[in-house]
Amino acid sequence: VTMDEAIDSIDAAVVSAQPGHNFGFANANTLNFAFDNSAFKTALNSFDAVFGDGVGVGVASKFYGTPAIDNVNGTDLLPFLCSRCSEKEYTLYLLGAKPGVAERMKSQLQKVYPRLRIVGCRHGYFDRGRENETVIDEINKSGADILLVAMGVPEQELWLRENHDRLKCPVRIAVGGLFDFYSGD
Ligand code: UDP
Repeated sequence: VTMDEAIDSIDAAVVSAQPGHNFGFANANTLNFAFDNSAFKTALNSFDAVFGDGVGVGVASKFYGTPAIDNVNGTDLLPFLCSRCSEKEYTLYLLGAKPGVAERMKSQLQKVYPRLRIVGCRHGYFDRGRENETVIDEINKSGADILLVAMGVPEQELWLRENHDRLKCPVRIAVGGLFDFYSGD
């Protein structure tokens, strides 16, 4: 897909107001990892869409006769996503990275997109057993339309699949190291 089509598909999933639309990105490393890790591969294949990220995926897609149209990676997608969210008043929740990073990303984003509503932030180093329900409750109570999950491959995809039915937000996007990158960390 093109970047515009990727944004439109995320938008359509928000408009559907049905919970459970997962999106992700796959670069060469992600795909190699998926070949060896069946739980991760199953999680990726359960997503609504996995966007092709990077030159390696572009070259492979040509080799297999289905060339990728655009390099749809999280870093390039973020500005388009934030513009769309500002315009349509969709709310975001930022989950992941080390303590403080999501908050720094939020304040940077709000300088650039003053109308963007970020309704919650939380680091990604919570206890997956003991604290999981609290984290999910907090996300659900925030009423976010879109949850960005930055806990790295494969943790974020496995967590999204495992908690698929507990999360209420219509759209969840696994974004890897995006928060570190955007916050300047
Ligand atoms: N991370 C996290 N919880 C964890 C492990 C990692 O929130 O239990 C975060 C980490 O701080 C970093 C991101 O996940 O912000 C992973 O970044 P990386 O660039 O390694 O991810 P990739 O894009 O390669 O998957």
